[in-house]
Amino acid sequence: MPKLTGADINVSGCSFTAEADTAGEVLRRMVEHLRSEHDIQLPDPETILGWDEDETQLDRGARLALRRMRERLGLTKKGLDEPKMDPIQVPPIES
Ligand SMILES: [Zn+2]
Repeated sequence: MPKLTGADINVSGCSFTAEADTAGEVLRRMVEHLRSEHDIQLPDPETILGWDEDETQLDRGARLALRRMRERLGLTKKGLDEPKMDPIQVPPIES
């Protein structure tokens, strides 16, 4: 089960643990907690999952927390970091 703790993302003095069935739900719980308890203003979970945030709108603490959350939850930027594969060339069948 995916899990994320305050210590995982280096929030000092935070003993909160977010645990849920999916990484997205863990992220949602952690974002909510960081916003309400630590005043760290993060983008919405949907924005984070879609790698859609405007980094210039985030302060340094929020950017670091965001990066660590993604690392811990194994969220990757699909499609951009993956190597492109060439289409498979099938040789013509000789008759
Ligand atoms: Zn906390």
